[in-house]
Amino acid sequence: MDRRPPLLPPGRTGRPHGRVSSWSAILLLAAGSLAACVVPPPPPSSPAPGAAEILAAIGPDRIVDLSYAFDQRTIYWPTAQPFRLTSDFHGRTAGGFFYASNSLCASEHGGTHLDAPSHFAEAGLAADQIPPGSLIAPAAVIDVRAACAADPDRAATVEDVRAYEAEHGPIPQGAVAILFTGWGARWPDRKSYLGDDTPGDASRLHFPGFSAEAAAFLAKERHVAGLGIDTASIDRGMSRDFQAHQAAAAANVYNLENLASVDRLPPKGATLIVLPMKIAGGTGGPARVIAILP
Ligand SMILES: [Zn+2]
Repeated sequence: MDRRPPLLPPGRTGRPHGRVSSWSAILLLAAGSLAACVVPPPPPSSPAPGAAEILAAIGPDRIVDLSYAFDQRTIYWPTAQPFRLTSDFHGRTAGGFFYASNSLCASEHGGTHLDAPSHFAEAGLAADQIPPGSLIAPAAVIDVRAACAADPDRAATVEDVRAYEAEHGPIPQGAVAILFTGWGARWPDRKSYLGDDTPGDASRLHFPGFSAEAAAFLAKERHVAGLGIDTASIDRGMSRDFQAHQAAAAANVYNLENLASVDRLPPKGATLIVLPMKIAGGTGGPARVIAILP
């Protein structure tokens, strides 16, 4: 067997060469200090090499924002408190500098948001208890647009999930399975997005969602970290018992609702970074969801 250490040319043994090695080391050190004198230190504002390399490797075109901005038009559940932003101060202070600050008030569940498992399971994880590792996840995007266009009350089935897997491979453990219904094109028109815009009335909503069986299959058989959807709820609008929510929460699976720009995601290969507000004991909260495209 050739026991030559790597990086040595053939015929060399790697045995140390006493004084020659010492001199080489001194020369290298001298060259190093010379270089240190000549090369200026990086300016303090430049990012650390690791961050710069990561950003350059990703490239801005591969980063997709899956969150809607929050304002007074943001769609909330008809019975929930909407988003309210009030100005505390905006303008020139007595000290002569500009200062602005707002206060916000809203339901945890509106706009692009997270449902913590504690939303529908008494012993489920709260928003602040979700392990951060499960918030970075591969996205499996199940395109059910055709079926939903034909039936706005469509509840996606286990067969829909299996049809996706037949084409794109198994949904990986720890993924977020996103139902792509096409409803995002209706945002922010409340009436067409929710199916009804009567204030305070959630009894006449129409939009598609997951069936209880599909949610349970993804949670228990595929061990997903989360379910996602481009509608207001993972349960369809006409649901009265929210069985998909119950099935996901029972397995400590979180949900992402009102996801934006799902049409920009490929069926597989994107990575989600889910950043919900970390509300202690929260049943959910507003979320910034970022996708990195493959
Ligand atoms: Zn919710």
